[in-house]
Amino acid sequence: MTKRICIIGAGPSGLAQLRAFQSAKAKGAEIPEIVCYEKQPDWGGLWRYTWRTGVDEHANPCHGSMYRYLWSNGPKEGLEFADYTFEEHFGKPIASYPPRAVLFDYIEGRVKKAGVRDWIKFNTIVRDVRKVDGGFEVTARDGETDSEETSVFNHVIVATGHFSFPNVPHYPGFEQFNGRILHAHDFRDAREFEGKDILILGTSYSAEDIGSQCWKYGARSITVAHRTAPMGYDWPDNWKEVPKLDRVEGKTAHFIDGTSKDVDAIILCTGYKHHFPFLPDSLRLKTANRLAADDLYKGVVFTGDTDMFYLGMQDQWYTFNMFDAQAWWVRDVIMGRIGLPDAAAMEADWKQRQADEDALEDDYACIAYQGAYTQELIDETDYPSFDVEAANQAFYEWKKHKKKGIMEFRNHGYTSPMTGTKAPPHHTPWKDALDDSLEDYLQV
Ligand SMILES: Cc1cc2nc3c(=O)[nH]c(=O)nc-3n(C[C@H](O)[C@H](O)[C@H](O)COP(=O)(O)OP(=O)(O)OC[C@H]3O[C@@H](n4cnc5c(N)ncnc54)[C@H](O)[C@@H]3O)c2cc1C
Repeated sequence: MTKRICIIGAGPSGLAQLRAFQSAKAKGAEIPEIVCYEKQPDWGGLWRYTWRTGVDEHANPCHGSMYRYLWSNGPKEGLEFADYTFEEHFGKPIASYPPRAVLFDYIEGRVKKAGVRDWIKFNTIVRDVRKVDGGFEVTARDGETDSEETSVFNHVIVATGHFSFPNVPHYPGFEQFNGRILHAHDFRDAREFEGKDILILGTSYSAEDIGSQCWKYGARSITVAHRTAPMGYDWPDNWKEVPKLDRVEGKTAHFIDGTSKDVDAIILCTGYKHHFPFLPDSLRLKTANRLAADDLYKGVVFTGDTDMFYLGMQDQWYTFNMFDAQAWWVRDVIMGRIGLPDAAAMEADWKQRQADEDALEDDYACIAYQGAYTQELIDETDYPSFDVEAANQAFYEWKKHKKKGIMEFRNHGYTSPMTGTKAPPHHTPWKDALDDSLEDYLQV
C-alpha cells in the first residue's frame, strides 16, 4: 500500500520537503501520497509578510515575525538552493542582501516550477497529532470552512519553524510603563518609532536588526540592554549599549549599573520558544535553540518515535540549503533508501553532535560546523552537491564586514557557491535605500 506522509508547514523547510519528493518523482521514482497542512493562506512561512499581529484571520496565533524593510541579515550566498540558483530565478546576478520580498519571490519561484502547490492544504492548521496503530492520526481545522478533518499517516514531518512563539520576560514596572512594550514578533514598521527613544532588550539578530531598522527610519535614540555582553559593534552616535534592565518607573528605564534613560517604547528581542501545541509530550521535541538539537538523530529523526521527523529545528547560520539537505535525507529514509541504526546509536549521534558543538570556539567554527553537517547529509542523497566551503567563506566575510561597519555590511557582495559568480553591489547603500520592494531592488 502507498505510504501516506503528513508535512506540517509550508515555509522554506516544508517546501524543501515537497520539492525533495517531487524531484524523486521527476526522476521516475514512485513516491508516497503527500499532504501538507499550512495554517496561512499562502506559502513561504516567515517570508510571507503579514501586517497582522496577535491572531491571524482564523483567530489562531499569528505566525509572522518578519517586518517591513527586512533585508536578509546574512549573505544570500549562504542560503542559495543548489537546484535553483538566484541567477536561474532572476535571470542575472543580484546583490547579496535581498529584502524580504525578493527572497520570497525566489522561494516561490522554485516551488512554482516544481508544481507542488496542489499538495498543500492552505488555511488549515494542525490541531492534534496522536500515535495510533499503523501511524499517526492528524486532526486539522480548515479555517475557511471552519471544519475539522482527521486522517491517518505513516509519517509526520514537523516543519513549523521555531521563530514564532515569543519568549516574553517580565521586569518590575512593566505594568505601569507609560509607553509601548512589544516583542520582536509583533514589530512590523520601523516608521512607527520615528523621532522616538527606544529601548531594546537582548543581543540577538532581532536586537541588532530591529535597532538598525529603527535607526535607519529615524528613531531619535536606540538603547540596547544586554544580560551578558554587549554586541560591541561600532554603533552610530545615537546608539548606546547598556547593562541589564533593572526596572521601569513611568517612562524611565533603570539599568543595573545605576544609569537610566527615558524611553518611549521597549522592544523585547528576547528570543523564541520551540513550541508545538499540537503535539502530545511523547512526540514533542524539547530542545534549546542550538546547532545540534536534543533527541534528533542526524538533526531530523525524532528518537522518541522514528516515524516522526523535524526539519529546521536547529539554530541557523545555514538556512534554505540546509533545510534542503535535511528534506532530501528524510525523503530517502521514508523511501527506504537510507536505513536507520539502532536506538543506542541514534542517541549517541545527537549527543556526540552536541559535544562537538560545545567544543566550538567561536562563530567561525559554528559556521564551519553547520556547513559540514549540511555537506554530510548532501553526500548521502542526490541533492546537487555544491561548494560548501565557498558558502562558509561568504559567511566569514560577512562577519568581518559587520565588524568593520555594522550599517555598511550590506553594501558588500560575495561569490555564489553554486555558480561561482560574484554578486554585484546594490545600486544604493543600505542605509539610504528606503524602498524595500522587489522592483526597486532589481533595478540596475
Ligand atoms: C525576523 C526574522 C528574520 C529572519 N531573517 C533571516 C534571514 O535574513 N536569512 C535567513 O536565512 N533566515 C532568516 N530567518 C530564519 C528563518 O527561520 C528561516 O529563514 C526560515 O523561514 C525557516 O523556515 P521554516 O520553514 O523552518 O519555518 P517558518 O518560515 O517559520 O515556516 C513554518 C510554517 O509552518 C506553518 N505552521 C506553523 N504551525 C502550523 C500548524 N500547527 N499547522 C499548519 N501549519 C503550521 C506556518 O504558518 C509557516 O508557514 C529569520 C527569522 C526571523 C524570525
